[in-house]
Amino acid sequence: MCGALRFTVDGPLRNILHCHCVNCRRVSGNFVASSGCATEDLTIHGEDHLRWYDHGYCRYGFCGTCGSSLFWQGADHMDRTSLQSGSLIDASGLVLEGIWFAHEAQPHVMLDPTVPHHSGNGGTEV
Ligand SMILES: [Zn+2]
Ligand SMILES: [Zn+2]
Repeated sequence: MCGALRFTVDGPLRNILHCHCVNCRRVSGNFVASSGCATEDLTIHGEDHLRWYDHGYCRYGFCGTCGSSLFWQGADHMDRTSLQSGSLIDASGLVLEGIWFAHEAQPHVMLDPTVPHHSGNGGTEV
């Protein structure tokens, strides 16, 4: 939001996943909608503004100046980085491909019935 931190991706972007787990609810203020890329394809500009909140099995990256939520990385697969879809300048061409932690979504959220709902992050379809 403030422009101190920017990123570019030189490679393919994953389609969008929604995550309603309690951590994503809290870090985003509602739920996370993210694309993703290979970490090696990600170039961060203004990296001194980047802050990571380490949650053990994963970490959330955000702008230390304005607080914008930007990234997510799983500790056991740091070769991939999730990108908050709202931070992308152009997300056209990306479609919703699934919903994670659907059972933890707050009651006011309308879950898209046309995509798979998962009980965890990509695990069993429910
Ligand atoms: Zn989550
Ligand atoms: Zn910022």
